Amino acid sequence: MIDWNEFDFETAAVRAGQVRTAEGEHSEALFLTSSFVFNSAAQAAARFSHKEEGNVYSRFTNPTVRNFEQRLAALEGGECGIATASGMAAVLTTCLGLLKAGDHIVASKSIFGTTVNLFSVIMAKFGIDTTFVTLTDVAEWEAAIRPNTQFLFLETPSNPLTEIADIRALADLAHKHGKLLIVDNCFCTPALQQPLKFGADIVIHSATKYLDGQGRCLGGAIIGTEELLMKNIYPIVRSAGPSMSAFNAWIFLKGLETLQLRMHAHSQNALVLAQWLAQQEQIERVYYPGLPSHPQHELAKTQQQNFGGILAFDVKGGQAAAWQLIDSTKIISITANLGDTKTTITHPTTTTHGRLTDEQRQAANISDGLVRISVGLESVADIQQDLARGLN
Ligand SMILES: *Cc1c(COP(=O)(O)O)cnc(C)c1O
Repeated sequence: MIDWNEFDFETAAVRAGQVRTAEGEHSEALFLTSSFVFNSAAQAAARFSHKEEGNVYSRFTNPTVRNFEQRLAALEGGECGIATASGMAAVLTTCLGLLKAGDHIVASKSIFGTTVNLFSVIMAKFGIDTTFVTLTDVAEWEAAIRPNTQFLFLETPSNPLTEIADIRALADLAHKHGKLLIVDNCFCTPALQQPLKFGADIVIHSATKYLDGQGRCLGGAIIGTEELLMKNIYPIVRSAGPSMSAFNAWIFLKGLETLQLRMHAHSQNALVLAQWLAQQEQIERVYYPGLPSHPQHELAKTQQQNFGGILAFDVKGGQAAAWQLIDSTKIISITANLGDTKTTITHPTTTTHGRLTDEQRQAANISDGLVRISVGLESVADIQQDLARGLN
């Protein structure tokens, strides 16, 4: 087998994990089949008892899904990848694999709202407690760790304010206490940030976002060491069934081939837009790690290859002004999704962060005038003009 870590990212992105069939197809084959046939009863028995490696049933063995898992793992610099039906299925599968009743999670306050709900409501039902801490405050992370803590969980950059966590510092902290660090790498993707290289133990993905990149399919993935994943995570996928469909894996595979080009193009558009927004007098403040005014700009430069496609800003005049800006756009899509070729605009206070109390929102710095944009691949001049109309 080829060790794709010896190749550059661009090469692994288009080639890793592909195993050609006897048909000699050039592009990756799509194995749209639920089960696989055996040559004999003896072979069936050998496959079921793990005496022989090979395909059995697509809930846990599918060549197209395996191709995607191996390619994404290579891009993250990880040994092993396991695909799931969605990003949330990846988080759930990780919880089911690593936690038991009585355990504890330390998680950043600034994580995807549904993940907050999964930890604080659903996991709580099974006797698992979560402490939420400030993403950028290492001392607060340390103070929250208990003997029964199993892992630390974060996203960087955060949504929607693009705060950056020091992955190396938090990995060292986790390991000092004998815990794992899990990073949801949805916003950067491995094209811009590889958390395993800074000491993270597991990387989680919502493939739905940039890995697809064109807003078509739901999917997720978990990347880490062979030991950690095959022992803890794979048995959950096999027995609980949060599996990725072969069709979706095939879409994501093709998405990975252009990931690096797209992520740099998203980043370039976002930087131009952030710089322009920062000059508009109707805008109070712009949140984008690529701006020198961003509090963790220097850290972002050492940890990321570029600053990503997500930015946020405070419009003067609160919710009314933010809604007016959103409603004045003609091409930008009003949707909470992100990581698409199409630029999207959201009002976090009344959508993605609507379930938080006023107090929680204030603590998280999410103001009524805050607008989040996932900058797409249209002409940045056209995106700018679409926003200028609402600002005037
Ligand atoms: C969207 C998202 C998820 C959940 O992914 P789905 O594929 O929608 O289930 C998890 N984490 C982050 C950061 C996300 O943006």
